[in-house]
Amino acid sequence: MSGERLRAAVQNIEAPMLRAYRLWVEHGQQCTDGCKGASQAQDGCETGRELWGAYRLERIGRGQS
Ligand SMILES: [Zn+2]
Repeated sequence: MSGERLRAAVQNIEAPMLRAYRLWVEHGQQCTDGCKGASQAQDGCETGRELWGAYRLERIGRGQS
């Protein structure tokens, strides 16, 4: 059994989703067009909604595969 190999595989699965989520978080911290302080991603600006949509696609896609 190789714990290192298993952990690397998990990281490969999670990395795209985490990266998409981080992009949305970082945008929200800098955005002055509605994303900062928004209670929902849908309340943010167009860019913020696109970044959130990309994250959701990653999450949903991984869940189905
Ligand atoms: Zn925004």
